[in-house]
Amino acid sequence: MAAGGEKIAGKDLPGRTLWLNARLATLDPALPGLGMVERGAVAAEGGRIVYAGAEADLPASLRAGAETVDVEGRLITPGLIDCHTHLVYAGNRAHEFELRLKGASYEEVARAGGGIVSSVKALRAASEADLVRETLPRLDALIAEGVTTVEVKSGYGLDRDSEIKALKAARKLAEARPVAVRTTFLGAHALPPEMNGDKAAYIDKVVDDMLPAVAGAGLVDAVDGFCEGIAFSPEEIARVFDAAKALGLPVKLHADQLSNLHGAALAASYGALSADHLEYLDEAGVQALRDAGTVAVLLSTVFYAYNLILSGQQALVAKPGEIMLFQNLCITIILGVAAPWLAVALPSGLWLPLAGVTALSLAGQFLMSWSYARAEAQYLIPTEYSAFIWAIGLGWLFFDEAVTWTTLAGAGLIVASCLIASRSNPKLAEPIEAAV
Ligand SMILES: [Zn+2]
Repeated sequence: MAAGGEKIAGKDLPGRTLWLNARLATLDPALPGLGMVERGAVAAEGGRIVYAGAEADLPASLRAGAETVDVEGRLITPGLIDCHTHLVYAGNRAHEFELRLKGASYEEVARAGGGIVSSVKALRAASEADLVRETLPRLDALIAEGVTTVEVKSGYGLDRDSEIKALKAARKLAEARPVAVRTTFLGAHALPPEMNGDKAAYIDKVVDDMLPAVAGAGLVDAVDGFCEGIAFSPEEIARVFDAAKALGLPVKLHADQLSNLHGAALAASYGALSADHLEYLDEAGVQALRDAGTVAVLLSTVFYAYNLILSGQQALVAKPGEIMLFQNLCITIILGVAAPWLAVALPSGLWLPLAGVTALSLAGQFLMSWSYARAEAQYLIPTEYSAFIWAIGLGWLFFDEAVTWTTLAGAGLIVASCLIASRSNPKLAEPIEAAV
């Protein structure tokens, strides 16, 4: 049926296909939440969706001659958009995570020549083909999660030719995979080492040389910057944004991530597409974003492992007993405040098992605090997650909780993947050099 028809990426497009028995996230504003349609259908013809809605309302004409797929109640959503990635890079900086676990702050890592600057060294040494090859597995992981459009930033080249190389590599990704790529020029990401601390001179280069070159080569959809004490001031970012505006390019900003420099308000004043991070955003920043229609992009995974970093840092400065006392004191105070309204009397039959649970959890807490001061986090994280397995076993033994194979398989997968990940990176990267 597709013979002689339309083609995408050299492939014949199928004729008409129907996906039935689906849970559809339609995002229809007339419906609450995600606009879910519980028994939904999607029809596609020649590579385009021609119907998405209730199966009962599917026009009979679309059923005729269609190839039908029963998705057995699975969820179908619109393609996901990842609007903030630094997907194109060379090497990796996993060793810095270890440094941070040992107590170094993001700023200390950056000032010691790590952070963005160590990525710059690796990217400059790589070829465009190297970058595409190293990036494709990361892109494939995103595609497997349902991403159909991905934004890719430059910002690890920090000179004209390296930035062009990174942006070209990003554009090549769209030829290699069925995904839409939008490229962002992030020249004002960090100060390259050869500028010897002269930020003003580097911003001159960004504005007068790099930006006109990447824009002239048609490699840029938007212009980004990093507004922060360890990067560029609001005044320096404003110069980059003025230059972008003069070229008719939209802007976005890494704003208020480590401190509040009013970056969100700055981005909003340029009608930015988005202001990203925003951990230190204040009320005035919120208002400015709202009034300008600038999207707030929150990057929760940046802080995903932050509790592990805090555990590591605490373990270095306090004894396990002190950490436990402090943590439990905080919880006691918080719960104590609510106790007059919410506390209930314990049935006497539960006293003994609850005392056992308390003793076990305190012992676990003590041992983990003790371990964080002694072992590397890569060995401790699988141990932390083994709590799932202990919980399943104890729940079954003491509380008659049913153990399903899916629970066991899930817990096993999490712990096994932690073990594999932590043991397959024996030598992650060269040590960070001291700053000169
Ligand atoms: Zn970023």
